[in-house]
Amino acid sequence: MFRRFGSRVTVLHTGKQFVSREDPEIAAELQKVLEAEGIQFVLDARTTRVENKNSSIMLSFESASGSSIATGSHLLVATGRRPNTDDLGLDKAGIETDKSGFIKVNGRLETNIRGVWALGDCKGGPAFTHLSYNDFQIVYGNLIEGKNLTIENRLVPYCVFTDPQLGGVGMTEKEARGKGFKLKIGRCPMTYVARAIERGETAGLMKIVVDASNDGILGASILASEGGELVQILGTLMLAKQPYTLLKGAVYIHPTLAEGFFSLMEDVKLAD
Ligand SMILES: Cc1cc2nc3c(=O)[nH]c(=O)nc-3n(C[C@H](O)[C@H](O)[C@H](O)COP(=O)(O)OP(=O)(O)OC[C@H]3O[C@@H](n4cnc5c(N)ncnc54)[C@H](O)[C@@H]3O)c2cc1C
Repeated sequence: MFRRFGSRVTVLHTGKQFVSREDPEIAAELQKVLEAEGIQFVLDARTTRVENKNSSIMLSFESASGSSIATGSHLLVATGRRPNTDDLGLDKAGIETDKSGFIKVNGRLETNIRGVWALGDCKGGPAFTHLSYNDFQIVYGNLIEGKNLTIENRLVPYCVFTDPQLGGVGMTEKEARGKGFKLKIGRCPMTYVARAIERGETAGLMKIVVDASNDGILGASILASEGGELVQILGTLMLAKQPYTLLKGAVYIHPTLAEGFFSLMEDVKLAD
């Protein structure tokens, strides 16, 4: 955002990979897109000193290329968030929190004290508005409608609102491999998608991760124009517990971005 406002932006990141939860190829592609906008990245960087000199901020850091100094007018520090639970008097009510201050809940969002629930960011886990709302639906369903809903195994779609957007659902390849799945993987660069070409928005790629034992979709990452919208189509198929092959023979409206699923499904093959 600041780059597009005209600032010269350098991103210093402690990790070796930008957007570290994503698969490396997705992270590399997003980094490439941002670099093409003029943003500089320094990965695996260790900040050693920050000084304010002559109205300028000087940030000293170590990286693979040795010691350097980044100079600028503003410094945005993104170190994460913590729950605002320390002043609620939870201890007086005997409500348990974990060591980071998140309120402990079970799958029904019940705390350890009967009649007290915790919803949204304060209970930890992925912090999204749509999950906070779904937490409410679960508690409402259980309390008012007599249902037995739980957050366990909840499918969590998300979107990083970069341009192009990074939409994700389910597991990444590295998560799925970590869980021991035998995989089939499909990829499709957005340069293959007619609608993306027409719109001049060919940056990015689609990737689908499939359970080789039953062709069920384990997850997908869509770095594309409207990636957040597109990934929810695959999320719907996951909710319906249908195999990816259902989309292989499907008819897609031409020219739409979803038409790219045709090439994506065709590309699915056994991974090493
Ligand atoms: C910069 C930024 C961008 C984000 N972008 C997205 C996005 O694009 N999509 C997305 O899904 N999520 C996004 N999120 C995350 C999303 O905002 C949160 O997950 C969501 O707001 C959580 O809802 P919540 O109701 O649990 O908590 P909150 O929305 O934080 O609400 C908690 C409320 O409790 C109040 N409160 C706190 N302490 C007390 C107290 N002691 N007494 C009384 N009231 C108190 C606070 O003032 C606040 O109003 C973003 C977050 C940030 C910070």
